[in-house]
Amino acid sequence: MENQALGQVPSEHLPVHFPSPIQVANCYQCGKCTAGCPVAMHMDVAPNQVVRLAQLGEWEKALRSRAIWECVGCQTCSTRCPKEVDCAGVMDALREASLARGMAAPERFSVVAFQKIFLENIRRNGRLNELELIGHFKLDVVLHTGRIPFLFKDAGLAPQLGKRKKLHLIPGKARDRGVVNRIFERCASERKP
Ligand code: SF4
Ligand code: SF4
Repeated sequence: MENQALGQVPSEHLPVHFPSPIQVANCYQCGKCTAGCPVAMHMDVAPNQVVRLAQLGEWEKALRSRAIWECVGCQTCSTRCPKEVDCAGVMDALREASLARGMAAPERFSVVAFQKIFLENIRRNGRLNELELIGHFKLDVVLHTGRIPFLFKDAGLAPQLGKRKKLHLIPGKARDRGVVNRIFERCASERKP
């Protein structure tokens, strides 16, 4: 009998719908994904172990791991995998499922907050407004953690960023924000189970 947990990630076993079928059965734990991952040393569960959890259907551990929020989505793991396992896609799908279920690791609050605020910023402006992003993000973290010094962390970088024209006091907006909205709407509709 086919062992479902070791086959294609079965969507009915997932807390929420995975955006696309992800093959994890082929993983034979060679570790090349972890060896190439630039942030593996900060993860509580290494990328190859996350794939293993997905193989075994250990969703609770996978969705509560800090590793999925350390992942920067660089795709190195998927590119290096000799078995064409989309490890980066697994990470991405687990992040989405973790958020949808309110299972994101609490100590990763700032990473989750940054990603939400970043996307909201793009949705609203059609392109990134750096000052709005920084202000909103810092305020959110300070209100959540009470760490007031965080407000001023990295403030010394502002002049350098300004000199390189990376901080725009008057934010630009995309001309056709309808296109951006349609992209967000399409992504949302494709995520629905
Ligand atoms: S590189 Fe591919 S086969 Fe090797 S451990 Fe990572 S996911 Fe599995
Ligand atoms: S996509 Fe994520 S897990 Fe894969 S190598 Fe990059 S940071 Fe590591």
